This record gives sequence, structure tokens and C-alpha cells, in this order.
Amino acid sequence: MKGEEQDLFIEVALNLPLTKNFHYRIPEHLKSSVEVGKRVLVPLGKRKATGYVVRVTQKPEVSEVKDIVDVLDDQPLFTAQHLSFYQWISDYYFFPLGGVIKTALPGNLNMESKQVISLTDEGKRYLTLRDNSPAMTLLEKLSSKRKITVRTLLRSFKGEGFYAMLNRLERMDLIRRDFKQAQTLGEVKKEKWIKMKEEGYLFIQSCDRWISLKRRAPKQTALLGFLGEKGRVPLQVLKKEFGDCDGVLRRLEEKRLIALEFEEIYRDPLRGEEITSERIPQLNSEQKEIMKQIMEGIKSGRYSPFLLCGVTGSGKTEIYLKSIEEVLKQGKEALVLVPEISLTPQLVNRFRARFGDNIVLLHSRLSPGERYDGWRRIQKGMVKIAIGARSAVFAPFSHLGIIIVDEEHDTSYKQEEKLRYHARDLALVRAKIEGTVAILGSATPSLESYYNSKIGKLTLLQLTERVEGKPLPKIEIVDMREESSGIKSRSKELSNRLKEALLERLNHHQQSLLFLNRRGFAPFVVCWECGYVFGCPNCSISLIHHQRGRNLMCHYCGYTLSTPNNCPQCGGIRIQLLGWGTERLEEDVKALFPKAHVERMDRDTTRGKGGHKKVLKRFIASDGGILIGTQMIAKGHDIPRVTLVGVVSADLSLNFPDFRSSERTFQLLTQVAGRAGRGDIPGEVIIQTFNPHHYSIRASQRQAFSQFYEEEIKFRRELNYPPFGRLINFKMEGNSKSKTSAFAEQVGRLANSLCDKTSKYRRDIEILGPSASPWEKIKGKYRYQMLIKGSPLTALRSFASHLLHQIPIALRGGGVKFYVDVDPVSLL
Ligand code: ADP
Ligand code: ZN
Repeated sequence: MKGEEQDLFIEVALNLPLTKNFHYRIPEHLKSSVEVGKRVLVPLGKRKATGYVVRVTQKPEVSEVKDIVDVLDDQPLFTAQHLSFYQWISDYYFFPLGGVIKTALPGNLNMESKQVISLTDEGKRYLTLRDNSPAMTLLEKLSSKRKITVRTLLRSFKGEGFYAMLNRLERMDLIRRDFKQAQTLGEVKKEKWIKMKEEGYLFIQSCDRWISLKRRAPKQTALLGFLGEKGRVPLQVLKKEFGDCDGVLRRLEEKRLIALEFEEIYRDPLRGEEITSERIPQLNSEQKEIMKQIMEGIKSGRYSPFLLCGVTGSGKTEIYLKSIEEVLKQGKEALVLVPEISLTPQLVNRFRARFGDNIVLLHSRLSPGERYDGWRRIQKGMVKIAIGARSAVFAPFSHLGIIIVDEEHDTSYKQEEKLRYHARDLALVRAKIEGTVAILGSATPSLESYYNSKIGKLTLLQLTERVEGKPLPKIEIVDMREESSGIKSRSKELSNRLKEALLERLNHHQQSLLFLNRRGFAPFVVCWECGYVFGCPNCSISLIHHQRGRNLMCHYCGYTLSTPNNCPQCGGIRIQLLGWGTERLEEDVKALFPKAHVERMDRDTTRGKGGHKKVLKRFIASDGGILIGTQMIAKGHDIPRVTLVGVVSADLSLNFPDFRSSERTFQLLTQVAGRAGRGDIPGEVIIQTFNPHHYSIRASQRQAFSQFYEEEIKFRRELNYPPFGRLINFKMEGNSKSKTSAFAEQVGRLANSLCDKTSKYRRDIEILGPSASPWEKIKGKYRYQMLIKGSPLTALRSFASHLLHQIPIALRGGGVKFYVDVDPVSLL
């Protein structure tokens, strides 16, 4: 007799605010289905929780272990390499591993209560067999109803291994799993395919049998002949070709010459979109030199990180395309991150023109079903390229060869809720773990990345000229301090110089862009009598007047009220609208140039699917014309005939209370300027500012990144800001101001005493705050923060982790939410 089978234990990551994993034993009947990467249902106190298997061992790690209840998945959801990536993220961002995994996987995986099960046609046929197995009981239960939720089924099947059974029945195509929700969620759609079997091919080759069948049943041979050529076709196609052929198919199936299969249909947002073809350019010598270096990385199979710098139009995208081509040749996969994919249809088009349907898109505007399908197509190796916004960094490829981060400096790569990760940083981490090439591309790299290229962490690749020698636009700065005196009341926001330039373009039937990074009509509404400023009751921010609805709106929480005629403070009636948003600018420009075609592109005019496209299309089709817009117009769009770009105010971003405000300003100005002169006529850019001597404005005038870098890096070094000192922000939020500030003060006391006690910390760590955040109240929540600055990184991290352990659980809660933001991007 064999001895008792060895016990198996697993380590499970749960999405709980604790860093440690849990341990369980696997009961005998689930041993064969448990694997790293699957979800399991485990007992947790009195309830059950879903967790992820991260390790399987033969020794229990803790003395008392409970049995798991069930295994939820048929196939692992992640690989060992993915797990190392998740683990790194969990450690670095002080976030529970289970929470990281949950973020990485598509959202609708974990919604059992929303899943409904129904019988398939196969299932109905199977029912006629009748036996006494639990599976049969389940099928019978299903036959009495159209659909039953998994949760309801689970209630009547307390038995063990319920999910394993569901998975098996689903694999056999007897049942179907859908997701019920307002918009249909991750419903798995299936399509019938007919496949030629080996026997079918043999049959065709044997002359005698073929001829005899052809005489008796010509339709059968016709169909076989067709299938023989194609191998496999969807039933729908056969029906189009042969009309109703169910009978014929059944007979061929009985003869075992063909087989019927089901295939999942993947919802694809790209399906049906036309691809515009594009000529593939010969690389110029600079590009060739760069490709040589990237090729070495691709061939080495080792982590090879690059920073690719080049102004817009210098041929970076061409480098991406070529590199991906090479990676595909090696049988590997490519991941491309872009800031906001819905704003870059042209980029997506170029990828499709080059790689056809081998691409999946991942971004937040997809329906949950589309996103789920995209994820599965990647996981199954059906597509080799994914293009997506920040969360695409988790795309479940298992043979990655390259990760590209376009516009690597863009702030949208930072997630600002729950797991506060930076996708650009994670792209590098993932590339390192999986041994791939990484390319960070930008015309205006982040200070951090450029610094990393100087100290050898990234290999710098530079494209110094625009492709085919198109000249950079001429940039002119208008000092608004001189302009503001002596102009009449209307359109004070536009200098004479800019007005002249606009008029000149209109006279020559050329197009102009006007950039103003603030939507709405007027950003400040003030009582002329008492000085009262209309502010949001939920946020410490002023309300913005929108002319269209004649209302005041908060751009943070959406609070709206119709613009009053009287001041709530003094009852006065002289309510003034101060400042300019795009809506007001549009009104002024239309008044100035009544005959011009004026379009506006901001969040208010581009609601709904394809909103941007519509505005752009009208503008491009116009003869001449002026496009007014927020930073939406700065990104991605190639508008060929624009010859003038006006920046209405360069000061908006410069005056932000944030140490990165100069960097943002430089980036934004350079990007907007890049919109001018992409066609044959050289472009002109006019920047209006009250700070004409500021280095970020000066440097952007010369499109000189290195000049800007040299100035900015001095300031960062002096104040020990990134990339020198690193930051971790401890944040507190609550409904009660006093409770939140009291909490913040306690955290501050703990931090200071920890710092005082340890000489290493005293030397390496600086504590800023705790204090109210610059925007003290947002969406009704009071916000406090304590910023920890430190170098080296190890000291900062050890201090933070020390502190986190000291903040007792009891201190948490009490209506105050507490979280950590590592490498914060926004300090507001
Ligand atoms: P970026 O990504 O830096 O803005 P692109 O790769 O989009 O630059 O190149 C700008 C334009 O020039 C595109 O239309 C592209 O097809 C074209 N282009 C790129 N490289 C070359 C080349 N070597 N020869 C001719 N045209 C090129
Ligand atoms: Zn608000």
C-alpha cells in the first residue's frame, strides 16, 4: 500500500490592507486543479474571500492552516514572471500584493455575483443522457430557467469543488457564462466553425469513394471540396455559400469527415475601421544609427533601456515601428504605452497600416467587454502588439520583446487612486524582469529620465532634425506687461501682435491654433461691491462660469448652480466675470473675425464617442479657420495646414504651486509649438506671457531642451528635489477637518520622533509638514499631507516602512483615510 498522499499547501495573496499573505491547505479533491496564478476561494474569519495563489509548497508555513473552499479558475491568470513584477510593485508602493494583482487583471474577473450561467444547445442535448452526477443536477436546474447567477447556483450547491465543476462544464461547452450589467460586461461570445478532419482529407484523396459519393450526394462533395480548400470556416460563411446546409453538415459529421467547433468571438473596437495605407519611408542616417543600437538590445535578449529624444516630426514613431517589426521577427511581443489613446487615432492608424490586425487596444474608453476580450486575446497569444494607456503596462504577454513608452514625460502615466503607480517606471521594471528592450520617447523628456541617461541608467538616443529637413517653427514671445496697458476692453487676452498674425493667416486661407488651457467662460466670478468670490462649497477652488448653461461649475466635483444675479454676501448686483476660458475666447475671436470659421475643442465640445474627430474634421475641412482648444489640441494630432500657433497664456502652468511647474510649462509650450508648420509652409508660434524672462519660456522659444535642463537641474539639486532627493507623500483625507488635522499631527509627531531617534534618518530625511494640502478641500474631503524627502532612496524607503509600521491600526480609520503616494506627481 502507498502511504498517505503528501499534503499540499498554498500561499494566497488577498486584497486586504495588510502586507502579508495567508496560508491554506488544499483538500484532496482540489489538488489537481490548484496552481500558481489561479484564484481560490478561502475562509477568512466567518466569511469567504477570493485570493490569488502565489506559491504552492509541501510544508505548511504556519502551524494552523485551514482548507481552501474552491479553485475558481481553469487556467492560471498570470505567470511566475508576472508574479515577480507584481511583487516588486507591492513592495515599492507599500500596497498589498492581492491589491496589485487585482489592479493588473481585468476588472470584471472578480464579479461572481454579476455572472450568469445558462445552458448552451450542447448542454440541452447533453441533458437527454441523464445520469445522477452533481453536474447533471446542475444542468437540470439550469434547464428550468433561462439564466441563473453564479451566486444563486452556489447557494444550492454547497458541495465542494463547485467552481471546478462549472469550469469543466464551460470547457465542454455545455454551459455559458455571461455577465449581466447595464452595459453588457465581459460576455464571452461564441461562433460556430466547421473544420475539415484528417479523415475528410483522406476521403477527398480516395478517388473511388469520392466519385461514388458525388454521384449519390453532390451537395456533400461540393461542401467537402470547399472545406478541403479552406480547412476551417465559420458556419455563417458556409451558409452564405451553400444556403441552408444543416442536413448535409450533419451527415458529414456522422461520417466523421468534418467537425464542429466553437470559437470565441472577440469584441474588437478596431473591427470595421478602415486602415489608411502609408508608404514606408527609408530610414535616414540618424535613424539607422539609432536602429543599430536598438537591434543590439533586441538580439541580446537582455534588459536594454533607451531614452529616445527628438522633437515632434523627427521620426521617433518610425523608430518604434521598425523596432517592433524586428521584435516580431524574433517571435516576441510588443507593448506600446501612449498617454491618452483616444486622442491619438493617427498613431493607432499608422500601427495598423503596418501591422494589420495583430494589434489590440487597451484603454479606459473601451467597454468592459472589449477590454476583457483584448486581455484574453493577449493572454492566449492571439495578438502580438498591444497599444494602450497606463494600465496596459499589465498586458498579460508572456514573451515580451519590447516595451515602448511614447511621450514618457506625460503626467497621465501616473495613476492617482488606489495603487498609485507610475506606468513609465513600471515599464522599465517590467522590461528588467523580463529581459526586454525598453524605449522611452519624448521631445521633452522628464528631468528624471534625462538625468538617468546622464548617469548611464538609460542609453540616450537623439534625433536632432525634423525628417526631410522641415524647419522648426519660429517662436516669438509677447510681453503682456507692455500689452495690457492702453488696449480697449474687448479681447484683452489677445495682444495686437497675435491679432495681426491671426488676420494675416485668415487673409491667406491658412489655419491657426489658439491654445488656452482652461475651459469654460470665466474662471473667477466676483462681486464688485464686496469682493466676494464664488467658490465651490465642496472644494477649495473657485467656480467657473459657463456661458452656455449660464451656470457656475466646479471642475473637480461637478457642483453646479445657475449663475446668480445677486451676491450672496452683500446682495449687490454687480457680478463680474474675470479671466478667460476657452468659451469666452471663442466668443471674442468670433467677434473679432466675424467671417472666420472658428472651432473649439475642449472637454465641453467633445463629449461622446468620436467627439474629437468631429471637431477636427470640421476644422481640417474649413478654408482657413481658427481652432481654439485646451491641451487636447497639444497632443498627437497632425493637422497639416496649421501655420500659426498662439499660446494665449504661458503663465497658467507657470504659477502652479508645484516644484515641477517650470518643467510642465516647458513641456506644454514645446508640445503646442510643435503643432505649427507640419505641412509645407513654415510655421510661426506666438507665446503671450507676463514672465518673458523665465528660463522655461526662454528655452522653449529656442526649442532647446538641454538649455532648460541645465537651469532646472540646478534648482532641483539645490532643493534636493527629484531626481536627487526622492519623495514619498503621506496623505490623509476625511470629512471632518478637526479629525483629519489631528490625525495628520499625530503622524507628524511619529515621523519626527522616528527621525530624531536615528542619526541616519536625521541626516538623510527631511519632513515637510504635515500641513493642509494646497487644495485643502476637494469633493467635500479635507486633505492633509506630509511630504518626506530623502536620499539615498534606501534610507527614504526604510524610513517610510518604519513609519508605516508605527502608525497603529487604531490610528487608521476613525473616518480618516490614510494612504501613501510614492514618487508623487501631483502635490496639490
Ligand atoms: P515623431 O514620432 O518624432 O513625431 P514620426 O515618426 O511620426 O515622428 O515622423 C514624422 C513624419 O515623417 C511621418 O509622417 C513619418 O512617416 C515621416 N518619416 C519618418 N521617418 C522618415 C524618413 N526616414 N524619411 C521620410 N519620412 C519619414
Ligand atoms: Zn467642487
